[in-house]
Amino acid sequence: MAKKVLIVGNGGREHALAWKIAQSPEVGKLYVAPGNAGTQEWNVAIAATDIPGLLEFAQKEGIDLTIVGPEAPLTLGIVDAFQKEGLRIFGPTQEAARLEGSKSFAKEIMEAAGVPTAQSRVFSEPEQAKEYIKQMGAPIVLKADGLAAGKGVIVAMDLDTALTAVDELMDGSLGESGKLLLVEEYLEGQEVSLLCLCDGEHAVALVPVQDHKRALDGDLGLNTGGMGTYSPPPFWNPELEEEALRTIVQPTLQVMKDKGMPFQGVLFAGLMLTKDGPKTLEFNVRFGDPETQVVMARMESDLFKVLWACTEGQIENLKLAWKKETALCIVMAAPGYPLAYAKGIPITLPEVPAQESVIFHAGTALSQGGELQSSGGRVLGVTAWGDDLNQARQLGYALVEKINFPGAHYRKDIGVKGL
Ligand code: AMP
Repeated sequence: MAKKVLIVGNGGREHALAWKIAQSPEVGKLYVAPGNAGTQEWNVAIAATDIPGLLEFAQKEGIDLTIVGPEAPLTLGIVDAFQKEGLRIFGPTQEAARLEGSKSFAKEIMEAAGVPTAQSRVFSEPEQAKEYIKQMGAPIVLKADGLAAGKGVIVAMDLDTALTAVDELMDGSLGESGKLLLVEEYLEGQEVSLLCLCDGEHAVALVPVQDHKRALDGDLGLNTGGMGTYSPPPFWNPELEEEALRTIVQPTLQVMKDKGMPFQGVLFAGLMLTKDGPKTLEFNVRFGDPETQVVMARMESDLFKVLWACTEGQIENLKLAWKKETALCIVMAAPGYPLAYAKGIPITLPEVPAQESVIFHAGTALSQGGELQSSGGRVLGVTAWGDDLNQARQLGYALVEKINFPGAHYRKDIGVKGL
C-alpha cells in the first residue's frame, strides 16, 4: 500500500525534505503543512504549531508517517500528542526536545554522558555572571538558556563586550529564555554540523555539513539562521565521524535512554573541531536549515524508508548511500535580513537543470494573482552539486545570477573556507 506522509513546517528544510520524500516509490500521497510556494502542490493550510489541527488532519487522512521540521512544534509536544493517538511520527518527545530547548539541560546531559564540550557555568544573577567573566577573561561566550531565534549567543572577543552582553541577554527582552545565562569557554576551530538519525538507541550519521551563520562575507556581520552550506567539508574524515559518534552521539543517546527519555529523531550536533578533537557547541533536535538542503541533494537512499526505520527502532547497522559529489546551498535573503526586511518582493525563477541543481523555497508565497513573491527573511536556497567544491560553487552562483529577485542579499563566499 502506498504510504501517506505529512511534513510539518514551511521553510527551505521542509521543501528539501518534501522534494526527497516525493521521490520515494513507497509514498503515494504527500502533504506539507503549511508549506511555501515551492511545495504548493502538497500544501495544506495548517500552521506548524497548530497541534490539534495537525492531529485531526493526520487522523482524518490516515497519515502513515509525520515528519516534523521545526523545533517549535517539537517543544510544544507534537510527538507526544501524535504517539498518544497511536500515530507514527518522526521526531523527539517534548522532554527529549529539551536538548535544544534548554542549553543548561543540554549541558547536564553532556556532563552525565562525558561528552566533550566547552566548560561552562550557569548564572541567574547578572552580577555573579560578571564577576565570573572578570575572573575568566575574554574571549568568552555567553548564551541565553532558552530558545532565542538565533539571538541568544554572544561570542565576546573582549571583556567590555562580554560585560555589556550580560545585561543585553538578561534585561528581560528575551523573556523566559534569558532568565538563566550560560558563560562558556571560547573554543577555536572549524565548525561542522553533524546530523544523526536516531531510533532511541542507535544513531546513523548523515553527511557532514559546514554552515555559514554570519550575514556577511568573511564571517562578519550579525548572526543569522544560516546563509549557506556545503557538504562535505574537506577537513572532515571518517575517523572524525567515528570519534564524534563514539564520544558525543552514542553516550548522549545512552544517557537519554537511561533517564527514560529515549531520543528518536534527528540529533544535530554543532561541533567545533578543536586541536583536541571534536567538541560539542550545541545540540539541535531536528534537521538543520540550510544543512538539510545539501544533505538531501547528496542522499541516494530512500528517505522515507530510513525515517520509517527510525520510528521502528531499527536503524542499527543501517548503511546510507550518498552521491560522491559536493553539494552547496546559497541562501538568498530579503534586503535587510537579519534585521527588518521587506516582504512581497516579486521573484522570477529561471529553468533549473535538474541533474545538477534545485532551488529550494523558504520564505516564498504566491500573490493573489498567483505570482511568486518573498514572504520571509531567508527566501531561497539555491542548491547545486558538482565534482568538487569549485564546480559546485560555479554552478550555484551561476544559477543565483539568473534569478530575478531585486535587492536580494546573499553571501559570495559560501564554501570558500573549504577551498
Ligand atoms: P550555538 O547556537 O550555541 O551553536 O552558537 C551559535 C554560534 O556561536 C556557533 O555556531 C558558533 O559560531 C558560536 N559559538 C557558540 N559557542 C561557542 C564557543 N564555546 N566557542 C566559540 N564559538 C562559539
